[in-house]
Amino acid sequence: KQGIEADGVAFYSQDMNQGMHERMRIESGLRQALGNGQLLLHYQPKFSIQDGTIIGAEALVRWQHPERGMVPPAEFIPLAEATGLVVQVGEWVLEQACAQAQAWKRAGLRPIRLAVNVSAREFTQALPGRVQETLRRYGLEPSWLELEITESTLMHNIDRVIGIMDRITALGVALSLDDFGTGYSSLSYLKRFPIDTLKIDRSFTTGIPTDANDCAIASTIISIAQQLKHRVIAEGVETVEQLAFLKSAGCNEVQGYLYSRPLPAAEFERAVREKWTV
Ligand code: C2E
Ligand code: CA
Ligand code: CA
Ligand code: CA
Repeated sequence: KQGIEADGVAFYSQDMNQGMHERMRIESGLRQALGNGQLLLHYQPKFSIQDGTIIGAEALVRWQHPERGMVPPAEFIPLAEATGLVVQVGEWVLEQACAQAQAWKRAGLRPIRLAVNVSAREFTQALPGRVQETLRRYGLEPSWLELEITESTLMHNIDRVIGIMDRITALGVALSLDDFGTGYSSLSYLKRFPIDTLKIDRSFTTGIPTDANDCAIASTIISIAQQLKHRVIAEGVETVEQLAFLKSAGCNEVQGYLYSRPLPAAEFERAVREKWTV
């Protein structure tokens, strides 16, 4: 887009216009998708390293678009975060995850903790009440649910955020700190957060075992978690070498393509029933 001279401005603004049109198109499409059943959740198993069993799943949203096919969240969540629509998406995701948990509970599946991603915009005073009300409505024990929050959620107004976290954990719902190490949260705050689990970001897992820095960072996160009495999970585990390293470093749980991609609900249920192990 550089090197345009006389009509450079016109060209640039036309280009910007196209970007804006594209964004508006996605936004109105997403608004419709929320109402007409085009969103769905896939479930990626989380495995205990110690005994190899499935201990939970991360619910990940997908958009089944009539023309574009399966649209990954990276193509609409950031936009939804910018426009605020992510709040409605988040409400739908919590609702859907709890409905699925209820269906599994009724079908006699053993309790599996479903982790739902919560973006910073959703992390308001209203969240604990909404979580409590949703669990009650679906007749679920809080042990069926976990919320994954990112460090960016924690950056503003720490005391307010800790108050909300306290109310969520008081319900018995677990909190995990997602993408740990990629954001800006200070270690001095970490001890104040009532979290259960630290989640090592995939960008660190990827370099294990060849990149000495990634190995050092992963080991350090694991030892911080251990000292703070938190559990620790690594995401993005793709190789047996990564698993071996994480296991010997004392990581509790793993999630990644090595064992399983995010699965449609029926396939995840089968994985639990057939007792997949790592
Ligand atoms: P995330 O929360 O860090 O989720 C993990 C992402 O890593 C998922 O991508 C998952 O499919 C992918 N992944 C898992 N294991 C591996 C692996 O071994 N290798 C590789 N290359 N990737 C792996 P996905 O489903 O495309 O989601 C991307 C991001 O979109 C998520 O990152 C999360 O930030 C956001 N997202 C997804 N669903 C939701 C949602 O319901 N609400 C909100 N607010 N954000 C969501
Ligand atoms: Ca996550
Ligand atoms: Ca993550
Ligand atoms: Ca990540």
